[in-house]
Amino acid sequence: MKIVVLVKEVPDPNALRLDPRTGQLQPGTPTVANEYDLYGMEAAVALREAGHEAEIVVATLGSGRDPVNRCLAMGADRAVAIDDSSLTDGDSLATSKVLAAFLKDEGFDLLFLGQESSDSATGDIGPRLAAMLDLPVVSNLIGCDFDGSKLTLKREIEDGHQTLEVTPPAILCALSGLPDPRSPSLKGIMASRKKQTDVKTGSDIGVDAAPESIVSWGDLFIEEQESQGTIVESEDVDEAVDQFVAFLEEKRLI
Ligand SMILES: Cc1cc2nc3c(=O)[nH]c(=O)nc-3n(C[C@H](O)[C@H](O)[C@H](O)COP(=O)(O)OP(=O)(O)OC[C@H]3O[C@@H](n4cnc5c(N)ncnc54)[C@H](O)[C@@H]3O)c2cc1C
Repeated sequence: MKIVVLVKEVPDPNALRLDPRTGQLQPGTPTVANEYDLYGMEAAVALREAGHEAEIVVATLGSGRDPVNRCLAMGADRAVAIDDSSLTDGDSLATSKVLAAFLKDEGFDLLFLGQESSDSATGDIGPRLAAMLDLPVVSNLIGCDFDGSKLTLKREIEDGHQTLEVTPPAILCALSGLPDPRSPSLKGIMASRKKQTDVKTGSDIGVDAAPESIVSWGDLFIEEQESQGTIVESEDVDEAVDQFVAFLEEKRLI
């Protein structure tokens, strides 16, 4: 079985630095692998560890190598980086066309990708790829078992979960309800250094011109969180306690 895992490089959600004048990300903002993609990667490795022979290929569209290196250290066998600046700034339709061209060329039995990315979060790519490749897609994936011929999958729904069965080839969009992604071990990191990353351009995957982008997007705006805490400032402990109790009573908390 061949499993392809898509991983996107995104700004680190815990270290977002916006330029207050332009609202754009400041240069030098750290990047990480999109979190849901790592859940997909973990699910791929878990299938192999459950005894299913599988080649795991991790792929990214973009110039960053840390996300694929992390997946190689988690257990992917090899990586592909589609690193072509003319293709990386497309909208989700253009991005899907590039990824679909690569996937047609690469081939797979199972494709894991994130349910959505933490930066633009369109959640479009999985369903678009399924339409372009004429394959089934299962979204909101939180559980994945394989009996050698069919997959038993669990997907999150609003107030519970749903179980369904799919026969590969299929596209699976991972959520954080799947088992947590492992931290790469030292052995995994050392092994990853010997693994191959193929760097491809558009023409290598049969995309000679960047697909047209129709959606354009504007500045980012992140609302400032105003702290509304109340500080009891009295230095006399008894008085401070009285003030604190009065505050709780006023708010009807006691
Ligand atoms: C702030 C902002 C807003 C945007 N809004 C829109 C919009 O409204 N409409 C629109 O069409 N485009 C939008 N874009 C463009 C969008 O970022 C790109 O099209 C992007 O490559 C795909 O969209 P996504 O990451 O939201 O996909 P999603 O569907 O949210 O991502 C799902 C999964 O697809 C895989 N994936 C996505 N991109 C890559 C990649 N480059 N390499 C490998 N795997 C990948 C990952 O596994 C990811 O978890 C926006 C970009 C920004 C920065």
